[in-house]
Amino acid sequence: MSERPRDRVDIEGVADPAAPKPPSKPKPVADQPRRFISVHHTCCNTYGRMYPDAGRTRFVGRCPKCGARVEATIGPGGTDRRLFDTQ
Ligand SMILES: [Zn+2]
Repeated sequence: MSERPRDRVDIEGVADPAAPKPPSKPKPVADQPRRFISVHHTCCNTYGRMYPDAGRTRFVGRCPKCGARVEATIGPGGTDRRLFDTQ
């Protein structure tokens, strides 16, 4: 084998303007103030992102198509899932 298969993010249908090219080397893992989680908006069958709110107590986001607000609680007993479905 001469090449590694390209790492692939397990999300379909998400345009990511912040990542136009694959990283060539690992970045130092510093504090990640803009950490986000992905969410599947079942209302429009599309994917979006949620970012922590100011208090870091929940993730909040909006459906990119219809603007429906979604949120997920952060905290003990919460989840390590990185992909949520809206209810
Ligand atoms: Zn929607």
